[in-house]
Amino acid sequence: MLTSVLSFTPEMAATVTEYCTNVSDDVSGNMNELWDWTCTQFEDADKMSSPLQGATMKFLASLLKPKRILEIGCFTGYSAMAWHEATGSLQSEIITLELDPKMIAASRRTFDKYGLNDRVKLIEGPAGDSIPRLTGQFDLIFVDANKDGYQDYVTKILDRNLLSPNGLILCDNIFARGMTISTESNPQLPDKVRPYWTANGKALDRFNRFCKADPRVDSILLPVYDGLTLIKWKDVAGGS
Ligand code: SAM
Repeated sequence: MLTSVLSFTPEMAATVTEYCTNVSDDVSGNMNELWDWTCTQFEDADKMSSPLQGATMKFLASLLKPKRILEIGCFTGYSAMAWHEATGSLQSEIITLELDPKMIAASRRTFDKYGLNDRVKLIEGPAGDSIPRLTGQFDLIFVDANKDGYQDYVTKILDRNLLSPNGLILCDNIFARGMTISTESNPQLPDKVRPYWTANGKALDRFNRFCKADPRVDSILLPVYDGLTLIKWKDVAGGS
């Protein structure tokens, strides 16, 4: 049967990721430097997007040409740097939300060191508090923070009309390392993080059902990376 996902062993997945990265657009020297620095500084550096994801962000942003970008979950500023680099000619505004003081300090270091403060604005504090204070609309929204908050964040974004008419919401890690699909689906997941991802998987399964049921939007869950959901307003004037 032809499925949408190839069945990889972890070794094959690593090989395929390396192959895709090598044959895809390179990210910049600054992005590579930040990625390496983050890996040396933070035990949980796997929270950062991969270079292939960084290249994907740049590809999408240069295609969609967003004038305003909202990012929920900054970490060390790797994805914010991708948005910044991809929107130089548009001079787009990038707002990124971060809660953890350690990651706020790391992000501020990134934005100072690489000169990103001209267009990147970091808002400190819980995203659930920051989102209701945002004004205007965003053309691209990247949801990449605590997984049990996704439904609340997307609900607030939609209720407050923060997504522009042709805007796109990207939600990362929807598979929760496979736990959203089934708790049996990833035997390699270390026991140390299994309860965390199992709880995330339950929250994200509820989120997926919410997206599918919300009559205001179209949504697609793509089996790329750790699961990527795309959300847009339903095209009421167009076809179904
Ligand atoms: N977007 C980053 C990238 O692509 O490299 C990775 C973000 S990381 C997966 C998630 C970040 O969200 C962490 O830095 C975490 O501290 C932050 N976060 C978690 N809960 C949050 C909340 N309630 N409000 C704002 N940020 C939060």
